[in-house]
Amino acid sequence: MKKDNTLLPTLIFATGNPGKAKEVGELLTGLMKVKSLKDIGFTEDIPEDHPTLEANAIQKAQHIYDRYGEDCFAEDTGMEVLALDGAPGVYSARYAGPQRSDQDNMDLVLKNLTDKNDRSAQFRTVVALILKGEIHTFTGIVTGKIAKIKTGEKGFGYDPLFIPDGYTISFAEMEAKEKNKISHRGRAIEKLIKFLKQQKATK
Ligand code: IMP
Repeated sequence: MKKDNTLLPTLIFATGNPGKAKEVGELLTGLMKVKSLKDIGFTEDIPEDHPTLEANAIQKAQHIYDRYGEDCFAEDTGMEVLALDGAPGVYSARYAGPQRSDQDNMDLVLKNLTDKNDRSAQFRTVVALILKGEIHTFTGIVTGKIAKIKTGEKGFGYDPLFIPDGYTISFAEMEAKEKNKISHRGRAIEKLIKFLKQQKATK
C-alpha cells in the first residue's frame, strides 16, 4: 500500500529542480512531506554567490526560511579535482562559462587534465537544514577518478566523466538507483534522514 504523507510535518526543499525534489521526497516518505519550490509557488532565482558549497547551501535555505518561516533545506554540490586544486568545485555548473553547458564543462576538465597523471576527484554535496530556526549541515562525498573519455548517457552534469572508486563504469552508465546508493547527494541525504529520525524519536 502507498504510504500517506498528508499528516506528516512539511519540509520545503529549496531546489528549482523538480527531479531532485521528487527523488528526495521519495527517500523521506513516511518521515516528512517534501514540498518543492514549485509546490509553494516560488519561481524566482535563489541567490548563491558565496565561494563555498557550505555557505551557498545555507544561503539558499535561509532565503526560503526568511520568506516563508517554514522548516526547509537546500543543497549545493561540486566536483573537486585534486590536480586542479579542487576546481571546478563551487563553480561546477559554470566552469566553462555562463552558458552552463555540461558538454563544455566536461571538455574543459579533460583539456585541463591533459598533462596530469593524477586524475583523482570527488563529488561533494552539502545539505543545509533549517529546523525550528536552527541551522544544521550534512556532507556527502564520493571519491573516484576522471576518465580519459566520456561514457554513458544517463544522469547529468559530469556523470559521463566520473568513475567512482571500486567501479569500472562511469556514473552515466549506472542506473539511477545504483548511483543514488553511493552518490554524494545520496550520502548527504542519508545523514539528513538519520538526523530527522533522531529528532522524531526524542520528541
Ligand atoms: P547543483 O548545485 O547540485 O545544482 O550542482 C552544480 C553542478 O555540479 C551541476 O550543474 C553539475 O554540473 C554538477 N553536479 C552536481 N551533482 C552532480 C551529479 O550527481 N553528477 C554529475 N554532476 C553533478
